[in-house]
Amino acid sequence: MESTTEAVRRSLRAGQIVAFTGAGISAESHVPTFRGVDGLWRNYSPERLATAEAFASDPRLVWEWYDWRRQIIHKAQPNSGHQALAEIERRATGSFTLVTQNVDGLHDRAGSRNVVKLHGDIWWVRCTGCAAEEQNQQVPLKPLPPHCHCGALLRPAVVWFGEALPESAWERAHEAATQADVFMAIGTSAQVYPAAGLVQVARQSGAHVAIVNPDPTPADELAEWVLRGPAGEILPRLL
Ligand code: NAD
Repeated sequence: MESTTEAVRRSLRAGQIVAFTGAGISAESHVPTFRGVDGLWRNYSPERLATAEAFASDPRLVWEWYDWRRQIIHKAQPNSGHQALAEIERRATGSFTLVTQNVDGLHDRAGSRNVVKLHGDIWWVRCTGCAAEEQNQQVPLKPLPPHCHCGALLRPAVVWFGEALPESAWERAHEAATQADVFMAIGTSAQVYPAAGLVQVARQSGAHVAIVNPDPTPADELAEWVLRGPAGEILPRLL
């Protein structure tokens, strides 16, 4: 009988493939997830720092946390899970879309091309005054908090809890989910909405759903295939 790994590997050979990733795919690159024990910084939970309210009341504190995360990500390298996804895209005979909730840029660095970033990018900043966006790779950032040429505060160009997703990224992700033949959710706790709702959108539109995660998630019940284990071990087996 065909194993689950073989069934998923075979399903990736043709058709419209969507990979949907969360913080777990970067865990083996030593980038802390939000829900793991390493996610805490000075005893603050990310839910208390990644909000517009936290930034309004203490922009320096929020920027110190982002600066800490940028330093970790700067030192991190894409792992075998990121690399396997880039290779799956290169080998795809149909379409391949990588929808990520991550802001770390490791998929780009691994060579993935068709990447939809639902929650922004930690290497971009946006002005709270004139709304200009620019890339900023300075590590560590000085001075904190950074300011725009127009004089207003800069903020990280990421989506905070309670904020809307960038419209065009969401439309691309939603469209890909509705058209997917195979939808693979990798390293996501499937708890942060609306992104997590894409698994259901894909399932209801007829996609075969696969989950890659060492732990159970609420999305498992929608899946045809559940591959238990770290993404860096499971994904290379799908090549
Ligand atoms: P999450 O922190 O809620 O959940 C991480 C998931 O990854 C868990 O289900 C866990 O079991 C799983 N996991 C842990 N190690 C894994 C491994 N080696 N292989 C596969 N899976 C593994 O993450 P989330 O669902 O992405 O939601 C949190 C939000 O936080 C997202 O919006 C994301 O933007 C943001 N975030 C991003 C980063 C990043 O860019 N690297 C890091 C932390 C948080």
